[in-house]
Order: sequence, then C-alpha cells, then structure tokens
Amino acid sequence: MKILCTNDDGYMAEGLRVLAEAARTLGEVNVVAPDREQSATSHSLTIHRPIRARRSADGVYVVDGTPTDCVIMAVNELLASTPDFCLSGVNHGSNMGEDVLYSGTVAAAMEATVIGVPSAAISYTGDEFETLDHWGPLLEGLLRQILGQDTFPPHTLLNVNLPAVAPEGVRGVRITSLGRRRYADAITRILDPRGREHFWIGGGISAWNGGREADFRAVQEGFISVTPLHLDLTSYELMEEIRGWNLAL
Ligand code: MN
Repeated sequence: MKILCTNDDGYMAEGLRVLAEAARTLGEVNVVAPDREQSATSHSLTIHRPIRARRSADGVYVVDGTPTDCVIMAVNELLASTPDFCLSGVNHGSNMGEDVLYSGTVAAAMEATVIGVPSAAISYTGDEFETLDHWGPLLEGLLRQILGQDTFPPHTLLNVNLPAVAPEGVRGVRITSLGRRRYADAITRILDPRGREHFWIGGGISAWNGGREADFRAVQEGFISVTPLHLDLTSYELMEEIRGWNLAL
C-alpha cells in the first residue's frame, strides 16, 4: 500500500514524524509537506506565484505552498504513482466542529478525497506535542484498521481527534458528529509599543455545544473521536423549501 503523509504544521513537525513512522509499518510512505507553518490556511491554493519543491536529506518533499498544494503536487507531479491512502497530521491541536472549515490539516485530507484518494485527518487535542511520540503504537493499530478496510466509502474522509490524555489512558474509539464551537473574546485588541492598536484573531477561550454524539464530548471523556465527513455541503432537506420562494427573473 502506498501512503501519502502531509500536514499543515510544516515538514519538521513532531506530529508528522510520528504519523509517518506509524504509516511505515503499513506500507510505502511518501511525505510531502509545507516548508513552514500553514495552520488555518484551510483549502487555499497557490495560483499567483510559482511553487518550489525540494527533497530533504531524509527524503521528505518540502513544498513552499499550502497543504492543498502539497497534495496536488504529490499526486500530479512528485510521486511516481497515485497513493492508495492519504494521511494528514498529526496536527498540533484539535480540529473539531467548525475547526474543519479553517484547518489546513483537514483541507489536505479533503483535497485527497476530491482527487479520489481515500484519506483521514488526525489531530491531537492536547498541547504536549513533545510527547506525541508515545502515540506511535496506538496510532499504528488504529491506522491498520482504517487502511485495512476492504472498501473505503467514496467522497468521504475521516476526521480523527486524539484526546488530551496519555495513550495508555485512552478509553476507546467513538464515531461522532461535528460539535459546535463558541468562541469568547475571538478578537483581542492590543496596543503596539508605539501606541497604535492592532488586533489578534483567535486565542480566546472557547466553549462547546452539540449533541450527545459530538466530537468534543468523546475527547473530553477520553475517547478517540472519528467523524466521517463528506464534501457535499448541499442542504438537501432545504431544497424544496427554497424552491417555494419561487425565485425568478
Ligand atoms: Mn496545524
């Protein structure tokens, strides 16, 4: 099995190293990753400047573009053949609820799905990234099951979040839905040393809500959250109602 690994934290991130190492026990791995931090770049594509790719001493393709660029470059140009599976992560931080709309890690997995390559995004909801190494064996076991399925549902990706506990403390795996994040103080207004104001997005403490099956509940309770996502955002149940508006020229 040929596995493409990528991320949005950059090619030097510990999470990517741990992911690639786990994936190597399951097949032939190629790593194609951004040359720098690309978190929260979502599904952006670099089309107004050239993109460069180089190969690091340990064989990683390093791309000066977004996670989406990396997947497109990998499949269309850099790799000898189309990968059988794409793994994105392990992201340094959670990707739950609306996070999936901003995340470059999830977008890379989505891009693979668009191209027709089955994929999963994996994120660690804790902040002790230097301990991600300990997750290797657990990750390997989980990936072995996911990649070992006879058929992977088309137009679908899995969004996996690891709880902020030690791997020995994980209680199990739950299949979940996306929760909803409520940000408090989403923008901070600060003065710079010269007294001019500027703004900082994010960083506020967020609260969550959502149903019993929501992703954040699973990780809060010490479970690995696995959310199946599809890319068709159409609200089929609303089509009839909007037709009733009789929009016309
Ligand atoms: Mn990230």
